[in-house]
Amino acid sequence: MLLTDRLDLRGGTNCWREEKKPDASDDLPSAADVVVIGAGVMGAMVAERLARRGREVVVLDRRAPATGATAASTALVMWGADTPLTHLTHMVGQDEAFARWRSVFQAVSALDRLIQKRGIACGWIARPELYLAGNVLNRDDLAAEGSLRRAAGLPSDYLEGGAVSERFQIAERPALLSGGSYEVDPVALTRGLLKSARAAGATVTFPANVERLEQSGSGVGVICDKGDRIEASHVVLASGYEAARLILPEHFSLSSSFAIASKVGTAPAWGENALIWEASDPYLYTRATSDGRVIVGGEDEDFVDADKRDGMIARKAASLETKAAAMLARTDIEFDCAWAATFGSSPDGLPAIGHARNMDKVYLAYGFGGNGVTFASLGAQIIEGILEGTPSAAAAGFDPYRVMQSNKARGA
Ligand SMILES: Cc1cc2nc3c(=O)[nH]c(=O)nc-3n(C[C@H](O)[C@H](O)[C@H](O)COP(=O)(O)OP(=O)(O)OC[C@H]3O[C@@H](n4cnc5c(N)ncnc54)[C@H](O)[C@@H]3O)c2cc1C
Repeated sequence: MLLTDRLDLRGGTNCWREEKKPDASDDLPSAADVVVIGAGVMGAMVAERLARRGREVVVLDRRAPATGATAASTALVMWGADTPLTHLTHMVGQDEAFARWRSVFQAVSALDRLIQKRGIACGWIARPELYLAGNVLNRDDLAAEGSLRRAAGLPSDYLEGGAVSERFQIAERPALLSGGSYEVDPVALTRGLLKSARAAGATVTFPANVERLEQSGSGVGVICDKGDRIEASHVVLASGYEAARLILPEHFSLSSSFAIASKVGTAPAWGENALIWEASDPYLYTRATSDGRVIVGGEDEDFVDADKRDGMIARKAASLETKAAAMLARTDIEFDCAWAATFGSSPDGLPAIGHARNMDKVYLAYGFGGNGVTFASLGAQIIEGILEGTPSAAAAGFDPYRVMQSNKARGA
């Protein structure tokens, strides 16, 4: 299996303070129980969990930890996925849709417990989440979405526009108000997880550019571009968006996304610092940070060319600012950093987690969709279950090849 694809994952200037702090790299070992390729939030979450369960874990990255897509993340940690539950129900049936969303909800709760237990300082704060009516779900659709979520046991309530405006001091618009969501600094979280993994015996080596994987007896040979080779019993591919075109089915697609942030101390700028996003395609979203920045993101474009993407940052920043002013009903927020990044989407808004096709002992952990931080928590749970021989019943719902399988079953 080749891993040679490379992307310029992001451009511009993000707002995460931790990103510039230097990391130390460990020596490259020659053998390991589990090699995790990728030291972003997904790789860190998987490595931490497996190391804490007593496995010998080696993390490799061609970049410094937490400097890939994770450093571009705006990191609203939510369980409500890009594809509404009502739409997913049409796609896969109600029981399966409920099972998948409940697993995602539980993954956020598990992440909350993990961060508290390990004492990871990463700006982790519970926030109400507002999902505003838009061109994907109008007022009535949104009310139906709320009913279905409650039927699944998920905490969402429908609010009329007036109630939204009164409570959150933003422009009047119907919305679903949900609990169980958080904001986080994704770079600090990833570094904290890697620190915890290291404390449990894991090593983290970078730059270590993995070129290919080879079946090797009952395990896997991990071959780096400088000729180094590690014999692994298991390999977890958490290599982010760069792997998409080589490894994942074509339904997992790449695009470009944009974000801006205000100066420290701007928030609160609306009620309760709620996480706010829209039932629209593409959607606009906003949140505050623990140090009082306001972040706004969206304006997605359907291409991945990095020069073209970064050349649009100034124009997209201006557009985000205008749209945020309309959504929040205020024009006094000054933004002082702007960035752009590659972004990965999936056909049902859910990630690709499970066995790799045609390679025994290789597992995929890709958090495609707007809930990549939540999906990292889910990915760690699912991968652990597979390695321990106790996969959860819901794991099949996130299998990387699930869409091809359901198309085949329908004869498509
Ligand atoms: C603009 C933007 C906004 C977002 N907003 C949110 C949000 O609000 N909420 C949310 O939950 N998610 C959000 N996401 C998604 C989330 O950020 C991503 O899903 C997540 O950060 C991806 O983490 P990762 O570890 O999979 O990838 P990465 O952080 O990119 O890590 C993968 C690592 O693998 C390494 N790698 C790749 N190939 C190799 C190789 N061959 N050898 C060695 N190393 C390799 C890379 O160097 C990289 O460091 C957003 C993403 C973007 C871009």
